Amino acid sequence: VHTCGPNAQKYGSSIFKLTAAYKADTFADKVNLGVGAYRDDDNKPWVLPVIKKAKAILANDEALDHEYLPITGLPEFTSAAARLILSPDSVALKEGRVASVQTISGTGANHLGALFLSRFYEFNGEKQVFLSNPTWINHLAIFKNVGIAPIYYPYYDPKTIGLDFAGFVNSLRNAPKRSVFLLHACAHNPTGVDPTPEQWEQLADVILEQGHYAFFDCAYQGFASGDLDRDASAVRYFEQRGVPMLICQSFAKNAGLYGERIGALHVIGSTKAEADRVKSQLSVLQRSEISNPPSHGARLVSMILNDPQLFAEWQRDIKTMAQRIIDMRDRLFDILTNKLKTPGNWDHIVNQIGMFSFTGINAEQVNALIEKAHIYLTANGRISMAGLNSNNIDYFAENLDKAVR
Ligand code: PMP
Repeated sequence: VHTCGPNAQKYGSSIFKLTAAYKADTFADKVNLGVGAYRDDDNKPWVLPVIKKAKAILANDEALDHEYLPITGLPEFTSAAARLILSPDSVALKEGRVASVQTISGTGANHLGALFLSRFYEFNGEKQVFLSNPTWINHLAIFKNVGIAPIYYPYYDPKTIGLDFAGFVNSLRNAPKRSVFLLHACAHNPTGVDPTPEQWEQLADVILEQGHYAFFDCAYQGFASGDLDRDASAVRYFEQRGVPMLICQSFAKNAGLYGERIGALHVIGSTKAEADRVKSQLSVLQRSEISNPPSHGARLVSMILNDPQLFAEWQRDIKTMAQRIIDMRDRLFDILTNKLKTPGNWDHIVNQIGMFSFTGINAEQVNALIEKAHIYLTANGRISMAGLNSNNIDYFAENLDKAVR
């Protein structure tokens, strides 16, 4: 088992320590690029207008009580969430082969999915999961907690600041048959590097050949490209190809509901009877862990997913967030390449997708940015595009330019 990627730095390996250092800094123009949540152009958290509307509707509903939800969650929410990720045309959904359970956001979905596999998956030898190198750091602990050893497959290539596709495929080929591979559905965290549609096809070929299991983590549907369908395309393609899989779904980013902890786990079975058995086991596991999931976020998301007008409004809000991030990528690229003529190639800034970007700068350059310019980012050179805005993008680009010269 490899230890996790970058060296811990003095600002702490954790994003929470980095945030504390940022908060303690009294410099007026300090910049926080470690933040893992969307910020608007004024650097403020953004409550989606459609969420405000849904909250107002709930607040005026005299008939709403605060009884427990069913153990597997609000049924109108879980079924609409499954259609959102798999599409209303999904064959697995039409055949009743999807077991869906409401979870404590994406983290809870990852945990429940991992716990389920740990109990019921027939591992071929070692109980292990293959994670991309690097990955969302919490994946390691989530799997270790349920007795599944995390090991890395090659993913990010520092030489190209892109995907190590050959290494990835090689690792799929060489892993024991029926291995579990965790795949980021879109907007890979932390690199922002995704396979192309053609690469997903080749990955599906090898995964099917080897009988592997796809553990999809989908934390950014819609948030990545601005288009819910486009960001679900890898998951939907894998379902069409019949890859055995489960999907972890989060509404933290795309609905701005971080603290409401609303998500879902969808396990696709090969028959309806199998999916029913899976759902029953998931229900037993969920009962012992949280009894039943919280209702508020589920009601909000369910209302939006099941009302065509609110759904259309949500799609517009998602576009607003995704577009602001895409604009920041374009502007940063433009300033570095055309205005400052910063040494090196910066194509990856616009080629990467989602909230995060791997800049390719080293830990020393990161420290220079923190210490000389009060710009906070993680030691691996990852920046959150959401931390950039029209007020600080020139300041950031100029200091990045200085750090790499
Ligand atoms: N998976 C990935 C890849 C993520 O980036 C995140 C959020 N940082 C999550 C899961 C879980 O987030 P949450 O529990 O807030 O939905």
